[in-house]
Amino acid sequence: MEAMPRLSAALGGAELWIKRDDLLGLAGGGNKTRKLEFLVADALAKGADTLITVGAPQSNHCRLTLAAAAREGLDCRLVIEERVPGSYNPDALGNNLLFDLMGAASIRMVKAGADLMAEMEEEAAAVKAAGGHPYIIVGGGSSPLGALGYAACAQEIMAQAFDQGVNFDRIVVASGSAGTHSGLIAGLIALNAGIPVTGINVRRPRAEQEANVLKLAVATAELLGTPAPVADDIVALDQWVGPGYSLPTAEMVEAVRMLASKEGILLDPVYSGKAMAGLIALTRQGAFNGERLLFLHTGGSPSLSAFANVLRDPAFNS
Ligand SMILES: *Cc1c(COP(=O)(O)O)cnc(C)c1O
Repeated sequence: MEAMPRLSAALGGAELWIKRDDLLGLAGGGNKTRKLEFLVADALAKGADTLITVGAPQSNHCRLTLAAAAREGLDCRLVIEERVPGSYNPDALGNNLLFDLMGAASIRMVKAGADLMAEMEEEAAAVKAAGGHPYIIVGGGSSPLGALGYAACAQEIMAQAFDQGVNFDRIVVASGSAGTHSGLIAGLIALNAGIPVTGINVRRPRAEQEANVLKLAVATAELLGTPAPVADDIVALDQWVGPGYSLPTAEMVEAVRMLASKEGILLDPVYSGKAMAGLIALTRQGAFNGERLLFLHTGGSPSLSAFANVLRDPAFNS
């Protein structure tokens, strides 16, 4: 956890800190590493030899699942969902290039709206037919087991805050497949931390996302055997999604460029850039005046090169 004095000074009103989960292990770091710590342990305990998962064309979750598979000597098969029609380019840079470098056993592209579980079951059937032992990981690793990674992160944040002698008034985090947001909430409540979490959506409307987060947070708390979160604990704002998942916004470009130039920290266009755009806007509006706030950097910078044409031009208008 690091202070961001230059960003704080530029925005005024709040003392901004950042937790560098972009620097976690496995290729390129990011939040999926914490979920995979639990999911891959389960796969190994069950005797799996092949991981199967799903994500968008620039999926950090697919990159990290593949990296975890390489580390454990497992095969990995990816189902890539073309959420933005026409967006899949087999020659794309960013995570797509890394899928190739790390040696995915197969990459299958499916159209938006496909039944992703059915597609993964089909991959699993092919593995079984060849005598293998498949293990399916849901999108984003956002099952209750995966979300435990972020309940553990809540514990780590509290321990580091104690060691560093700081108290946080709020945590701000990107909210997508919801495992990160849900795990954090379940963990903070289990610890009786009393720190509210402001989620910034990257895909879904507010009501839909808050329902998703609540459901997963309750299931995660059940797995932990700790008190269940309630609706009042969940905030997932949707004003910074823009035209849709992974589609650039001028506010995202400003946020990515601002963190890079003021703090030397790389965000990403799809998740942490949009979450930071929300944090910047709310700070400017005075919503966090007088607060010391922790932004959870969920990673994603390996995809930056795939968005170079959007990010390079500071005069970009959405
Ligand atoms: C997946 C992802 C998120 C969102 O986390 P969820 O647990 O899916 O809500 C945020 N940032 C990055 C970089 C991601 O890859």
